[in-house]
Amino acid sequence: MISQENLVKTFIELATIDSPTGSEQLVADYIIATLAASNIAAQKDSYGNVFAHVPGVGEPLVLCAHMDVVQPCVGVKPQIKDGYIVSDGTTVLGADNKVAVAAILECVRAAAEQKITMRPLDLVFTCSEEVGNEGAIHFDYSLLQAKNGFSFDSGEPFGTIITGSPFYERFDVEFVGTGTHASRPETGHNALAMLRDALLLIPLGRPTQTSTCNIGIVEGGKARNGVPGNIFIKGEVRSFKEGEITSLVAGICESCNAAAAIYSGSAKIETVRENGGFLYEEDEPLVVAAAAGLTAVGATPQYKKVFGCFDANVFAEHNITLVNIAHGAEFSHGTGERMSLENLAALGGLVEQLTRV
Ligand SMILES: [Zn+2]
Repeated sequence: MISQENLVKTFIELATIDSPTGSEQLVADYIIATLAASNIAAQKDSYGNVFAHVPGVGEPLVLCAHMDVVQPCVGVKPQIKDGYIVSDGTTVLGADNKVAVAAILECVRAAAEQKITMRPLDLVFTCSEEVGNEGAIHFDYSLLQAKNGFSFDSGEPFGTIITGSPFYERFDVEFVGTGTHASRPETGHNALAMLRDALLLIPLGRPTQTSTCNIGIVEGGKARNGVPGNIFIKGEVRSFKEGEITSLVAGICESCNAAAAIYSGSAKIETVRENGGFLYEEDEPLVVAAAAGLTAVGATPQYKKVFGCFDANVFAEHNITLVNIAHGAEFSHGTGERMSLENLAALGGLVEQLTRV
């Protein structure tokens, strides 16, 4: 069993080590040294992610946590106040995601010291999660033996299991017409009219229960008395369902092309799938296992689909199911970030439950 004293100590040590996004190497070195003390050899990849395989019995399992912390996070002075670990108020605490790092490390340490048999573990500690999951994007997935696993990287209340996170695709469109003077509209090809007609066809807002569509930037025109020859829009579509995002984006492209054609213009379109998504049923075995683990540590499992993206989205693109469970810290990404000792103990217990044979 994990020692609560060790867990608090390890988390506080981790919190004290500076690891702003892009400069995670001191924390990486700490993780490697801690695992080495339990005779686990960890390696750093060329991007700075840390990977280790822990031998065990049964189906292998991935455990993932990110090492980077959002600013302000240099010189964190963690302290314990009224049952919470807090910063001194000038920085974040870095509980997102170092409580998960600490829980994983302490689970491995307890197993080694107490000769507890665990499932074989693939441990992945990523860099630069906070800026678009860059570490996870650059990770070499061929290192993994496991196809399933868990991460602990949501700021929802402890007990929450994230069952859905969207596929995300952006689109940039330039409507190209011919600019002319307002007094001679017949001689131009109005790019704004192209956009207007396209917008009649683009389902902004929530086209379905499981998707959203937005255009956040519209730019164009040079003068009040000019018919604009070019209009630019930047938009995005999110959906929990891959088929849905694919057809929505295809529909948007079609609408833009059709609207441009009406005015003898053209639409230059760029679409980029930024990340994949996932949608898990509550009765999927891995979600059931997460719920059982939470129940065992006294938490009430709750299920939530969110419109944010995590390392788990990138793992899903590599066909690795990572069920993301809330880490239990509150007010993450702010200087009021705090982690209750109670939740920290529960998180440690949860990692133990999940890795049990
Ligand atoms: Zn995080």
